[in-house]
Amino acid sequence: MDIHEYQAKEILARYGVPVPRGGLAYSPEQASYRSTEIGGSAWVVKAQVHSGGRGEAGGVSLCRSDTEVLRAADGLFGKRLVTRQAPGGKLVYRVYVEEASDITRELYLGIVLDRASETILLIATSDGGVEIEELAARAPEAIVRSVVEPAVGVTDFQAREIAFGIGLEPSQISEACRVIRRAYQAFVDLDATMLEINPLVVTGEGGLVAVDAKVSFDDNALFRHPEVAELRDRSQEDAREAHAEDRGLAYVGLDGDIGCMINGAGLAMATMDMIKLAGGEPANFLDIGGGASPERVLKAFRAVLHDENVRAMLVNIFAGINRCDWVAEGIVAAYRNLSVSIPVVVRLAGTHVDEGRRILADSGLPIRSADSLAEAAHLAVDAARGAGVPT
Ligand code: GDP
Ligand code: MN
Repeated sequence: MDIHEYQAKEILARYGVPVPRGGLAYSPEQASYRSTEIGGSAWVVKAQVHSGGRGEAGGVSLCRSDTEVLRAADGLFGKRLVTRQAPGGKLVYRVYVEEASDITRELYLGIVLDRASETILLIATSDGGVEIEELAARAPEAIVRSVVEPAVGVTDFQAREIAFGIGLEPSQISEACRVIRRAYQAFVDLDATMLEINPLVVTGEGGLVAVDAKVSFDDNALFRHPEVAELRDRSQEDAREAHAEDRGLAYVGLDGDIGCMINGAGLAMATMDMIKLAGGEPANFLDIGGGASPERVLKAFRAVLHDENVRAMLVNIFAGINRCDWVAEGIVAAYRNLSVSIPVVVRLAGTHVDEGRRILADSGLPIRSADSLAEAAHLAVDAARGAGVPT
């Protein structure tokens, strides 16, 4: 789960990492009021969306009066901010107003769960402000990496090595070490999978401030952190996935045009592969799980069709705990209730398969049956190509 910048900064501040003074606003008037409240003579107005690259997309403005703050905020509210990371755009309905920082250097500090080394990795560079992926491609030698031994945590030596590695002055080392250790503590305490301060800036007075922050959390650990779970902002998430999750369905949104209803993640993977092999692209996949009732299948059908890019649907069920007859009943009910207008290909195997096939055949509905997964994938790809664009 991702959170907004202002939420990430609230967390960092709680752990003692210095952040600029700021306030959240839900309207341009409130934004302008915030700048008066904060005081000073320069502010930054920042669109709060779950994406980086806001600066180059026009989502970050430096302002020198409350009128400028008002105008900058007015230009953001209600817009979809299109960034390099979010080409579909993300809706802006909160902006964060901060005192502008006096920046002399921009650094990068990241903490990630590194799946390759199965440890927590500290990453830092003296080249902050740019995306780390971009820097990794352009100048990998400029990135300082340090593996954290989980039982020990970040050692003083390790923190100092990083601080010197990114070229900080001797007078800044102890503060940098504090920032590193506190950010690491937040990461571990809250079961984060990624924490990024980019840029971590050196101010004119020589202090360090986190000017931008981003934190992602492990979904499977959210139950132990209700205070984190409540920071979720569904408006920033894939609408299709949120819709399915609200209904207790396991759904993954993809970019193609074939909707998939499957039981089990392994079978889902195999089905995605078969679709690709047949020359098609999956739009999503929905896992109905085990022992799915006809009602659950109907709900799942609705979630798959909720994606307007879906031009054909493939149902692939290998029933063990599931029952093909229940799945078939659910499919027939979906046809009757949802005015299905796209081709549907069904492959059933396993428990009560004969009964399931009979229900589909007797329904008189234009459902295409397939005996094997390969055949089903080909039929679905052909159907998606032949189908008219529904929108
Ligand atoms: P991002 O583009 O989404 O990563 O948003 P950031 O918060 O990182 O802002 C982008 C860039 O705007 C930063 O790298 C800075 O160069 C600049 N910026 C952000 N806040 C301030 C500020 O308070 N003062 C100054 N001078 N520049 C800022
Ligand atoms: Mn940034």
